[in-house]
Amino acid sequence: MSKYRCETVCVQGGYTPGNGEPRQIPIIQSTTFKYATSEDMGKLFDLETNGYFYSRLQNPTCDAVAAKICALEGGTAAMLTSSGQAANFFALFNICTNGCHIVASSGIYGGTFNLISVTMAKMGVEVTFVSPDADDEELDAAFQPNTRAVFGETIANPALTVLDIERFAKAAHRHGVPLIVDNTFATPINCRPFEWGADIVTHSTTKYIDGHGSTVGGVIVDGGKFDWMAHAEKFPGLCTPDESYHGITYAQRFGKEGAFITKCTAQLMRDFGSSQSPQNAFYLNLGLESLHVRIPRHCENAQAVAEFLEAHPKVTQVNYCGLPGDKYHALAEKYLPHGSCGVVSFELNGGRDAAQIFMKHLKLASIETHVADAHTCCLNPATSTHRQMTDAQLAAAGIPAGLVRLSCGLESKEDLIADLTQALEAID
Ligand SMILES: *Cc1c(COP(=O)(O)O)cnc(C)c1O
Repeated sequence: MSKYRCETVCVQGGYTPGNGEPRQIPIIQSTTFKYATSEDMGKLFDLETNGYFYSRLQNPTCDAVAAKICALEGGTAAMLTSSGQAANFFALFNICTNGCHIVASSGIYGGTFNLISVTMAKMGVEVTFVSPDADDEELDAAFQPNTRAVFGETIANPALTVLDIERFAKAAHRHGVPLIVDNTFATPINCRPFEWGADIVTHSTTKYIDGHGSTVGGVIVDGGKFDWMAHAEKFPGLCTPDESYHGITYAQRFGKEGAFITKCTAQLMRDFGSSQSPQNAFYLNLGLESLHVRIPRHCENAQAVAEFLEAHPKVTQVNYCGLPGDKYHALAEKYLPHGSCGVVSFELNGGRDAAQIFMKHLKLASIETHVADAHTCCLNPATSTHRQMTDAQLAAAGIPAGLVRLSCGLESKEDLIADLTQALEAID
């Protein structure tokens, strides 16, 4: 599928039916798979042959959908997970365990911030958060001898900062570690982080990839370029025999292209079991089939809404990298030349109180803990998704208490602007 353009891959990637086989990806709703002899099965357990034995680890429906996303991102291997949280946890924990350290952008999704700073801290993983705007000197200073990964989001949720992927990748590589990029908001339609040096890409597929608010899920994609063996002392999990898996050395057996995902499947899926159900993978694929049609429309609506808000007297600040005056416009022109995403954030004159009055009066945009689907929705991060963060942490992440995050759906942009107009009028 790699020779085809993304529009074609969205529709047909990952699965090519044979003669007389189902046109749509079949839902293999089976926990297990039958074999004629225990020798056949043994080879699967030894990872000597490809095949399925238990859907906690791998399932053909999930693999077909993962292969489609892998092709869209231009990666070499991919796996679905039960959620975006599981994808980011696995991507990090696959190489950062007790005693290791992560350098992460401070402007990341609240759930990931919490995962790294609280839950992974309990597992003995340290983190240093750096501003997504950090210069090379600040970036270099964040690394420690035990640093094992750099983590950021292409477009941060909800701060909407744009990551300088190439610069962050170079910093990671100077220190012999991979860059992991959560590409949820941009999607591979608008940005392919591997082309800028990222090594691992993750998504919460719950957002645009599903796109209809129907299915929680995640994906991890390996770009296949990071040379684990060249930094073997840093990555013993990939570069020395795994005694829990018949003495396999993943980086030797599966190479740069396959080691990361194979280890992640064989160890982390086996032990944590955060697999996606085949039924959910099927829904996810329905979303994928129109991703390339939906994303430009989300961006068109968000651009119109951002321009409207910017010109409105009751709005003090609009964050949308598609606006020429936005702090991230230059980075967006480099990394997101075809558009960024459908999410706009803005601050109202009158802070938290004004935000609450405004949101109460919206008729089309509903108040939801969600973004990035067909229906326009909004929320006030400080009182919802980010309520576990202190004011200082909120400020560091670029999220003032009175910020409203608005996710523009696929409705008419004229109707959306009319709805915003009347809700803004309700603020006195
Ligand atoms: C929503 C989101 C996540 C978490 O994904 P879930 O599917 O909700 O677990 C991670 N990263 C980003 C950027 C997100 O927007």
